[in-house]
Amino acid sequence: MDHRARLDDERRSLLRAIAVRDADVAGIVAAREGSNVDDEHDPEGSTIAFERTQADHAAANARRRLAAVEAALGRLDDGTYGVCEVCGEPIAEGRLEALPATTRCVRCASGRKS
Ligand SMILES: [Zn+2]
Repeated sequence: MDHRARLDDERRSLLRAIAVRDADVAGIVAAREGSNVDDEHDPEGSTIAFERTQADHAAANARRRLAAVEAALGRLDDGTYGVCEVCGEPIAEGRLEALPATTRCVRCASGRKS
């Protein structure tokens, strides 16, 4: 499996997801401005605030994953991809297949001191 191709795919889908989330947040903000609700007293106002929090959270999540994928692409460029950042051992191929942006081998990721 070509890790770069997988990471590129993931990067593209995350960028799409982020664009969708941004549109969601913009839509929620627009709906709120249009409805002229009072957040403190209108039950619908707090629903909109909740939706917005959820959308912001999802967008932040996607951005974090995107940063991890871009860092992995950088490691492919400088030849350090697939090497555990903690112990310096190669990360198992199966783990890279499952988690192409991972920076740690199974042992280090699980937090055990070898
Ligand atoms: Zn390790």
